[in-house]
Amino acid sequence: MIIVLRPGIAEAELQAIEEAVRKAGASPVLVEGRERSVVAVIGASKVDERQFELLPGVSQVLRVGKPYKLASREVKPDDTVVRVGDVSIGGEQIVVMAGPCSVENRKMLLETADRLAALGVTILRGGAFKPRTSPYAFQGMGEEGLKILAEARERTGMKVVTEVMAPDKVELVARYADILQIGARNMQNFDLLKECAEVRKPVLLKRGLSATIEEWLQAAEYILSTGKNRDVILCERGIRTFETATRNTLDLNAVPVLHERTHLPVVVDPSHGTGVRTYVEPMALAAVAAGADGVMIECHPDPDRALSDGPQSLTLELVGRLLRELEAIAPVVGRRLDLSTKRPPRPARRAGAAAGSDAVAFQGEHGAFSEKAARQIFGDGVRTSPTPSFREVFEKVVSGECPYGVLPVENTLGGSIHQNFDLLVEFDVRIVGETKLRVVHSLIANRGTRLEQVRRIYAHPQAAAQCERFLRQHPSWSILQVYDTAGSVKMIKEEKLADAAAIASSEAARRFDMEILKEGIESDPQNYTRFIVIAREPARSGDKVSLVYATPNRPGALFRTLEVFARRGLDLTKLESRPIAGKPWEYLFYVDFRGELDEKVVAATVKDLKEHTTFLKVLGCYPAA
Ligand code: PEP
Ligand code: MN
Repeated sequence: MIIVLRPGIAEAELQAIEEAVRKAGASPVLVEGRERSVVAVIGASKVDERQFELLPGVSQVLRVGKPYKLASREVKPDDTVVRVGDVSIGGEQIVVMAGPCSVENRKMLLETADRLAALGVTILRGGAFKPRTSPYAFQGMGEEGLKILAEARERTGMKVVTEVMAPDKVELVARYADILQIGARNMQNFDLLKECAEVRKPVLLKRGLSATIEEWLQAAEYILSTGKNRDVILCERGIRTFETATRNTLDLNAVPVLHERTHLPVVVDPSHGTGVRTYVEPMALAAVAAGADGVMIECHPDPDRALSDGPQSLTLELVGRLLRELEAIAPVVGRRLDLSTKRPPRPARRAGAAAGSDAVAFQGEHGAFSEKAARQIFGDGVRTSPTPSFREVFEKVVSGECPYGVLPVENTLGGSIHQNFDLLVEFDVRIVGETKLRVVHSLIANRGTRLEQVRRIYAHPQAAAQCERFLRQHPSWSILQVYDTAGSVKMIKEEKLADAAAIASSEAARRFDMEILKEGIESDPQNYTRFIVIAREPARSGDKVSLVYATPNRPGALFRTLEVFARRGLDLTKLESRPIAGKPWEYLFYVDFRGELDEKVVAATVKDLKEHTTFLKVLGCYPAA
């Protein structure tokens, strides 16, 4: 039963209600929520609700149908956000808990912690007391391990989550840990649950190997019902099924089920859930996509030598990759994972353009990002035509050698690719489509070359700009400009350069059988390049128009042109100015606009604009990406 309180209830009224609950032989637990606050009546089954209904400050008395009350959404409709210092679990941010299965020794743990903190992980995991299936396996370092975890917290600022296995160790573990973990094997150790409630530290409650969601929520209720600890985090870690291909079956169904039934935050552990290193990343991404508030990941600097759970532990490089993927996927489901601070807005993703079976010209070697964009637009089966320069891509299209060309025009980190804007004015072609591609850069070298041996980097100026933060960490490297990312990989291979590396896509590394020294070196994972498709003939339809024009040199001239779009209710999506070659201090304005477009609207807009411009060219009307 729950007693729903009137908003703004007086303290004396609340105390009288709590006293009445005690008199009835039950315990009152106050649950304060954003939408409403309630007093839950815990313990006695035969309480008559009528005795509370008339008390001052009571809005309503309700029976709760569930065997768990305090954990239920009925009692508290709004999400519980568990705060551990400056880290929140259950809010907009996704949390990542990472660390080794067990604390093995000081050096290994501190090294792991330093690297995880540098990657942006906020909660460090690691078992000091280990529940091992075999009594002969490593049982953990005990209190010594807890001290090492506390030392790691001191030096990195990360919070610490670690398992407590026995009720008489709760006080000890709580002295060192920020979050107490109750392991799967102990989910129904009721004495342990009650003891954990006493210390008032957040509890991470793992799902038992064969526990139903309802049993799990009742275990959480044991902690909540004491009225002393409301900070429970649920952790799905896989259940025992008939399947043997994986260590457990990660029940991602539990995530939406729990979010519907309980206000408590839900974290997913794909490491124990799969037991296999290569399955951890996809299932972690799936967990966040399913709505998990965080993930718990096992990792190790040298997994093959781990004392426990090596086969499911990620290397630290793999943790870095996972974090970047999570950071990119979180906004798709309305969440965030902040590994650093500022973010450019994420563009919408929708492929859409012309289709064709003939070769598509692109600048660079096979494996270039432009080729990837061409595949994204035209499909994997498209024939592509590698071309040395942007100008030659235009020439191939104008001459009819290739019906289409694909060209980068702007990047979210590096800015506009101006040369292509200029070439769009010079050549008689039309933009017929566009796409946006996420660009992940790798540092690529010959097999056997180690990072310490690298002295020279071959990089496209755009790629170097996108990886500026990484390159700054290596001030001794000389950066050599090239205009072909994949081509520079090929060149390093052909020349057998032992001290050189290139910045290009991982596809380029695979294509030329080269080694990836580091993946994901772009300064921000939200790194997108917009590519356009050009052709000789205009596209038949679209919802986006690109134009370029020049205005007379008099006050208000640019304003007059912009007014045309405003009056017609057209949405201006881009305005960029470029100097006109041979006419110092005169500029061209490149404009993109969107709206309900048909030939008549475009023609009328162009007619209006002509009155206020000295030069105007329609670059294309095409479907927006
Ligand atoms: C752990 O996280 O270290 C662990 C032992 O997990 P589980 O209790 O889920 O098996
Ligand atoms: Mn483990």
